[in-house]
Amino acid sequence: MADKDYYKILGVERGASKDDVKKAFRKLAHKYHPDKGGDESKFKELNEAYSILSDDKKRAEYDSYGRTFGNAGFDPGAWDFSSFGQGGPGGVEFDFGDIFDNFFTGGRGTRTPRGSDISVDVMLSFEEAAFGAHRKLIITKNSTCKDCDGAGAKKGTPYSVCEKCNGKKKIHDTQKSILGSFTTVRDCDKCKGRGEVPKEFCSTCHGAGIVRAPEEISIKIPSGIEHGEMIRLSGHGEAIAGGVAGDLYIRVHVTPHKHLKREGANLRMDLNVKLTDALLGADYSIDALEEKLKVKIPAGISSGEVLRLRAKGIKAQNGNRGDLLIRIIVKTPEKLSRQAKKLIEDLKNEGV
Ligand SMILES: [Zn+2]
Ligand SMILES: [Zn+2]
Repeated sequence: MADKDYYKILGVERGASKDDVKKAFRKLAHKYHPDKGGDESKFKELNEAYSILSDDKKRAEYDSYGRTFGNAGFDPGAWDFSSFGQGGPGGVEFDFGDIFDNFFTGGRGTRTPRGSDISVDVMLSFEEAAFGAHRKLIITKNSTCKDCDGAGAKKGTPYSVCEKCNGKKKIHDTQKSILGSFTTVRDCDKCKGRGEVPKEFCSTCHGAGIVRAPEEISIKIPSGIEHGEMIRLSGHGEAIAGGVAGDLYIRVHVTPHKHLKREGANLRMDLNVKLTDALLGADYSIDALEEKLKVKIPAGISSGEVLRLRAKGIKAQNGNRGDLLIRIIVKTPEKLSRQAKKLIEDLKNEGV
């Protein structure tokens, strides 16, 4: 857990207030809500980050040491949600009962059926990841039939009561066992829980309400996205008759840059500088992210010193640009001419 960036997980600044931390957590917890096909490991990670950053003592330890003490082996049973659900400013937005019921029962039960999630990979250049990009994907998947809006009926035709469930939408199955008889209730499969069936079917989907076809999906990839990040498009997964569509997950792959290394929104690079330029100062031209930049090397710079060019890094998702950090590497000449050696000996005698 030492290398996890809890601020990044919650998408807040280092100096974020407790309120902002709470707001960010609520928003993300909604997004990864298990009932909406949330991601269990992401959800745990959010809770872990929140449990640290919402606690002054733990947050201070984490800020100083990059970890907290005394809670090695994060205990999911000890999540502290006591500050939630009490109404608070803005009222109750978050139903933890709902989350936990689903979390621990796997979200099954008698809920509406949900289509499968789809995941696709998208390749981005380093620059596209830095500034954002647009992509058009063509995905062949089950979608709601547009001609009947998923109803399965020919537009304008009447429905009749489902004969199988008599319009009750549910079917009761009674089974006998050694413990006695018990009844299970499920959605009627004939009318898909609607209680009525079309008299005349839609000619496009033949009553299924679902068609399988290629669909073009336009996505806007935000600036500052990192390799391995996922974008979730809710409801763009596989559609299912009588239920809700799954989600579409887009996993982003970013090609590494030949000399720029990314560190959050900042970029790092090394710059080789001649010994005489380090001593006397000089102007260098470098290949930055989208342009050539002039860098002024101050006289007397040492190897290992870092120059910072403000706002020449990655455009973060909040719109601010990170910096470009240039580490100076002073190159000592391997061979010296007789004359150069003589000059350097003179320097030595000068006490340089
Ligand atoms: Zn029925
Ligand atoms: Zn249709």
